[in-house]
Amino acid sequence: MNKIEHIGIAVKDLEKSNALFASLLGKKHYKVEELLSEKVKTSFFKSDEHKIELLQATDTNSTIAKFIDKKGEGIHHIAFAVNDIVAEIKRLKKEGFTVINEVPKKGADNKLVAFLHPKTTNGVLIELCQEIDSLKYC
Ligand code: ZN
Repeated sequence: MNKIEHIGIAVKDLEKSNALFASLLGKKHYKVEELLSEKVKTSFFKSDEHKIELLQATDTNSTIAKFIDKKGEGIHHIAFAVNDIVAEIKRLKKEGFTVINEVPKKGADNKLVAFLHPKTTNGVLIELCQEIDSLKYC
């Protein structure tokens, strides 16, 4: 795994949180993207060193809505950049981690993503992500 690509934060009101994080980070979000398949609306903030992804549920049975019901707003996942997501899934399965998405899926921000179940990662939902533009040989 490479650097932490982004940290995902579950929020109730994306517009309010966009304003809050803009004043926290000193810059505005650079994109908003709705993922219909996940029933979430996301926005992204970027600095040289990190990205923050805010996630708001668009439906009451979205995983983000369920997360907020259970735990409240807050850090939802940590995403690591990987060079070869398929190889990394294979490696992590061999190491005994529970991979939620055995086949990577299209995520926000032009990425292929897969998640590790928090029950095997000390309660932290881990996202693996690979830039789709880097899939030159597929
Ligand atoms: Zn994410």
